[in-house]
Amino acid sequence: MADKRDYYEVLGVSKSATPDEIKKAYRQLAKKYHPDLNPDNKEAEAKFKEANEAYEILSDAEKKEKYDRFGFAGVDPSYGAGQGGGFGGFGGFGDGMEFDLGDIFGSFFGGFGGGGGRSNPNAPRRGSDIQSSAYITFEEAAKGCKKTIEFQKIEHCDECGGSGAAKGTQPQTCPECNGRGQINVQQRTPFGTISTAKTCQRCGGKGTFNPNPCSRCKGAGRIRKTHKTDINIPAGIDDGQTLTVRGEGNCGVNNGPAGDLRVGISVKPHPFFERDGYNVWYEMKVSYIQAVLGDTLRVPTLDGQVEYDLPAGTQPGAVFKLKGRGIPVLNSSRRGDQLVKIVVDVPKNLTPAQKEALLKFNEAMGNKDVKPEEKKGFFGGKKKK
Ligand SMILES: [Zn+2]
Ligand SMILES: [Zn+2]
Repeated sequence: MADKRDYYEVLGVSKSATPDEIKKAYRQLAKKYHPDLNPDNKEAEAKFKEANEAYEILSDAEKKEKYDRFGFAGVDPSYGAGQGGGFGGFGGFGDGMEFDLGDIFGSFFGGFGGGGGRSNPNAPRRGSDIQSSAYITFEEAAKGCKKTIEFQKIEHCDECGGSGAAKGTQPQTCPECNGRGQINVQQRTPFGTISTAKTCQRCGGKGTFNPNPCSRCKGAGRIRKTHKTDINIPAGIDDGQTLTVRGEGNCGVNNGPAGDLRVGISVKPHPFFERDGYNVWYEMKVSYIQAVLGDTLRVPTLDGQVEYDLPAGTQPGAVFKLKGRGIPVLNSSRRGDQLVKIVVDVPKNLTPAQKEALLKFNEAMGNKDVKPEEKKGFFGGKKKK
């Protein structure tokens, strides 16, 4: 595909479409172009893929916003210098994102606490969590799957081993504060002279500094990198749930533990199945004759087709249950059920012979007052071909 079509155009919705409208448009297309319904149809397959890609972006609020602002470049890392490249400069500022409460407490209250645990810049700090997302199909959610997640992660710099000092050099004791990390400042006030301990500006309170900072991390000891990890998504997970992978987040500071990776799960809607908790709904079309006389149906389920004996005289809208054919309950061996709603397909455009047979049947049922369409003088169904 040389030219990519706009995602809104693919789904046939406007830019102001609601999440519900986007979902509905996707389901319609997915149903139309699903490979199961269009075997060996390359065009349908391409359309199905295109709709899936568009839905993945437009159903995720964050990705949708990026797409709205930057187009394909905002959501596809291989499309120019998208997401990943833009953050290249972050490594130099340590975490970049962490709001360091310790430093603020240090400069305000340094004189009182004498540098308590929190204000110590050398104290171990846990790395921050990383938010990521994974798109899975309805079947993958039902059966569980393995996914490779790619994300930006702050890791110890492998050039300097996290020290921030260039190879072969060591961090030096700060000459300004002699390694204390704090400097005493005398202040004259109307109440006398107050001595306040302030965080040393030169070393940021660490007591050491790097005369030769590592060129890779610019002395921070940590660096932002693209990271890949495989996660196991358990069977039964639902749209909107989050998986936490302990210790896969950003690395800690001063030997503090790493944060967690939190993966938001988005489940693509299925063209025919609709999830309701751990149950799965399916609408089964049967003919009028099947409903009247009964039949052995072959019903699609998550486990493939299963047979069901439809009883004679089944009413439209009747619901029957296929026990244990639903979604597995998370972390359990139980499964929900599949609920099958019967939709009776009323035959259209009958031949005269078929009509006659039905009228005979009607007579046999003891009803004599049916007036077929042609004989009706109303604006009933006549105009609608
Ligand atoms: Zn380094
Ligand atoms: Zn210092």
